[in-house]
Amino acid sequence: MYGNAGHGSERVRRSARPVRARHPHRRRHDILTSDEFAAALDEAEAADLPDREAAVVREIRREHDRAAKVPTALVERISEETSNALPVWKEAKAEDDWTTFAPQVETLLDLKREYAEHIDPDADPYEVLFGDYEPWLDLSVAEEILERLRDELVPLIDELNDADADLADPFDGEYPEDDQFALAETTLDHLGYPDDHGRLDTAPHPFSSGTQFDARVTTRFDESDPVGAIGSTIHEFGHATYTLGLPKEEYGTPLGQHRGLSVHESQSRLWENHVGRSRTFLDSHAGRVNDHLDTDVSGRELYEAANQIYPQNCIRVEADELTYHMHIILRFEIERDLLAGDLDVSEVPAVWNEKMEEYLGVTPETDAEGCLQDIHWAHGSFGYFPTYSLGSVMAAQLFDAASEDLPGLDEDIAAGEFDALHDWLTENVHARTRSSTTRTRSSARCTACDSLTGHVAQNQRRERPPSGFPTAHRTLGCRHLVDSATLRTALLVVVLLPTGRLGFVTVVLEELVEDVVVRGCHTRLTPHY
Ligand SMILES: [Zn+2]
Repeated sequence: MYGNAGHGSERVRRSARPVRARHPHRRRHDILTSDEFAAALDEAEAADLPDREAAVVREIRREHDRAAKVPTALVERISEETSNALPVWKEAKAEDDWTTFAPQVETLLDLKREYAEHIDPDADPYEVLFGDYEPWLDLSVAEEILERLRDELVPLIDELNDADADLADPFDGEYPEDDQFALAETTLDHLGYPDDHGRLDTAPHPFSSGTQFDARVTTRFDESDPVGAIGSTIHEFGHATYTLGLPKEEYGTPLGQHRGLSVHESQSRLWENHVGRSRTFLDSHAGRVNDHLDTDVSGRELYEAANQIYPQNCIRVEADELTYHMHIILRFEIERDLLAGDLDVSEVPAVWNEKMEEYLGVTPETDAEGCLQDIHWAHGSFGYFPTYSLGSVMAAQLFDAASEDLPGLDEDIAAGEFDALHDWLTENVHARTRSSTTRTRSSARCTACDSLTGHVAQNQRRERPPSGFPTAHRTLGCRHLVDSATLRTALLVVVLLPTGRLGFVTVVLEELVEDVVVRGCHTRLTPHY
């Protein structure tokens, strides 16, 4: 739910209204923890329910049990402190002064530790908070994925830093926002965005929000970087397709809600990275780009521009497909150590910069482009960041599975035919929402190596990767994946090296889904970034 947004709610909160009366968090908590609600839940649970209803009761049971352990006063205090923290964060970022924001971070860390303590006094507080964003995925799975990413990515990024080949960068002019906006609308229309169930607008930080009846998309433009806007527009489109794909008949029940933030991010990353950054799509899209921007770029040039790696970039939301994960790993490690009390808030700027140097070979010049850049901590959203990388892992796995089920997918993308992919994603992801947990599914499809090699082979057909480059298959050693308790599938990150060659890195993840129904007070509009 992040980026630099939250402007609306912040403006609303600054108005002089009695906090207690309009406190949405408190009201929702009161309903969820009321005796009547608990009694109805017990009664439903005691009934012999069909699978659908049973899954809904399972979801509500989890939310109720967590909420019931947290005192209302603490819920309210956390909400008030996050409201107070937002303007302080903005001021600290504007003045590039971490010490202004540090006391707020300290307070929110203490409140979140207390919150975690109430929910599970024996658990690692980070694990409990992670569970708010990824309810059914063990933190150990996320940790293993992030650790493997770190081990695989850092040497590759080092190599990138040493290479000095120049790739095409055809957009060296100024491209008016109106032209880019028209291109963004054409891109959405081309991908199948139903403009009678949504619309495109601009925002300081792109996000998508809505329900299965109407899901809006926002993007932002930089007159010197049209490629960035194409990517962020397709990213938010991915989020909107998931929201629009949720079962309409389940509106208002847990099964009318998304499965979790990682799955939501998998939809945006699948469209942004596996469709939007692919040579096939960009070959077919170059004409539309040239029509709107009055340029003359080839598919190859557009592909190189869209797949460039920027190791020297300090800003997470502007990071490329490869280095992005290092920004996530850095935040994950710092949050985990802060919550465990192994790191003091005053040490954050120094540790942040050390890790940036170690992982990406670059040191932020200011805290505003370092530890003050994200809004997450101002909202007390500790435990959120891993969902971004988990989403990317799922995206590769889902695209691999779709490619297997839809042999003509590449030709469809070239021809601008996206119905088959939309239908596949709706059937296999969107329609299945919260019917099953990420833990309960293991599938004959999770033969990680098959999907990896299939994917690698397809890419090699395009650009033969240099020999000696690590491919996912050899790097991981498939035996490891099959042995572990739950069957997993791996992510393949394809990078375009300055030499014009392709490189590969990998991760592992679990699969999903199935389902059920009962009515409950469940629909909340949450923006996805
Ligand atoms: Zn996103």
